[in-house]
Amino acid sequence: MPKKVVLIVIDGLTPAMLESAVEREDVPALRFLVEHGEYGRAITTFPSLTPVCLSSLVTGAHPDVHGIPHLVWFHRGEQRLVEYGSSFSAIRAAGTTRAIRDAIFNMNQEHLSRNAVTLYESLEGAGLVTAAVNMVCYRGPARHAATVPGVARPAFGPSRFFYYNLFESDVTGAPLAIRTRARGSVDEYARVVGRWLVTRDGFDFLVFYLPDYDFASHSAGPGAAHAALAHADRAIVSLLEAAGGPDEFLERYAVLLCSDHGQTLVEQSARLQDAFADFRLFHPGNGRRAELAVTASNRAGMVYRLPGCSAEPRDLAERLDGEPRAAVVLFRENGDAVARVEGEELRFAPHADGWRTSGDIGLLPQPDALERSWAALANPNAGDLIVSAAPGVEFADLGGRHHVGGGSHGSLDLGDSEVPMISVGLGAPPARIVDVAPRVLGHFGVPRSAS
Ligand SMILES: [Zn+2]
Repeated sequence: MPKKVVLIVIDGLTPAMLESAVEREDVPALRFLVEHGEYGRAITTFPSLTPVCLSSLVTGAHPDVHGIPHLVWFHRGEQRLVEYGSSFSAIRAAGTTRAIRDAIFNMNQEHLSRNAVTLYESLEGAGLVTAAVNMVCYRGPARHAATVPGVARPAFGPSRFFYYNLFESDVTGAPLAIRTRARGSVDEYARVVGRWLVTRDGFDFLVFYLPDYDFASHSAGPGAAHAALAHADRAIVSLLEAAGGPDEFLERYAVLLCSDHGQTLVEQSARLQDAFADFRLFHPGNGRRAELAVTASNRAGMVYRLPGCSAEPRDLAERLDGEPRAAVVLFRENGDAVARVEGEELRFAPHADGWRTSGDIGLLPQPDALERSWAALANPNAGDLIVSAAPGVEFADLGGRHHVGGGSHGSLDLGDSEVPMISVGLGAPPARIVDVAPRVLGHFGVPRSAS
């Protein structure tokens, strides 16, 4: 029987921060894992935003397959905005109840495509026990009733499922997660639940998700959230101790540790919708008459043509030629993907084992740029334009919020897209986020379930 597997995700952790921390800081668990495993840098998907990246991590697929396009997007079937939580103001602007319902339930039950298969679905289908702590992408076969009075809707997740006190498959005594977010309370909740799970050896596969680092790094800036990283490390120390010590932990479990995306410094914000001010733009409540919906957050934006819009995607893309803060504008035309950069174009489409291109390939120097751009555009839920922000630029969200002076992510750029990857007992570190799920399935000898 292969070792059980623990997948640890520290949201927003950059490779540079991990590499310097294990040299110089009080992060004993991270240092132990790096010393006992293999370390590399990997590339995530695009847009490099948490719901998109975590869906890729758990399904082994880009957004063309899993369907999650952005942190905020326009739902064509329901003619409305979906907002998973860019900021509290953005949640209010989208409608608080609806945004919470989208983030907690609809993302997994409705938006995550049935063409994608999660690790929980494949592994539980083979008779293994899967577990997830606070994991944003959690779709699985086990039905869970909410622990909070007044929430009637069940969630379907892994058989051991812990989600911010809202769903708890077992009573662990962990404290309430959400009340004191800025002080690391979510990771503290995960720490106590994780300790409980490892003490009982209560799973074959565990996803242990630690979001507080990203939250801190958004405000402090990339490479500055040292206390949050130490706190994440303490949560991992608790897992090691619960097994009887670090060596005992590795006797029982193989480990992958990564983040979902990087972060880069934000120096200015931009309103993507300003380039389209002469169109009737969608706002909650006036959807039927609008020509365009512009959804932007962090370092990526989307523009959706609505039924009343006569402008072609190319016309809309050309409007951003004079907007240097929109560095790469992607759209589709005659079956090709087109990347428009400072008025120049690269056309590309998949071909045999590679890509057929015309134009200057140097326009897209970002890692895995053709593959990731193509997959982002091929997502049926994506906008007609996808915009990757220039270095140092963030697009204000629905509530007008941004992280100027702090960190952000979402673009195609290396700094937003590169993640640390530690493998202990699972072979060479996967080079892409989408390689993680196949690696875990291969370790267990389990085929990807038919969806
Ligand atoms: Zn973030």
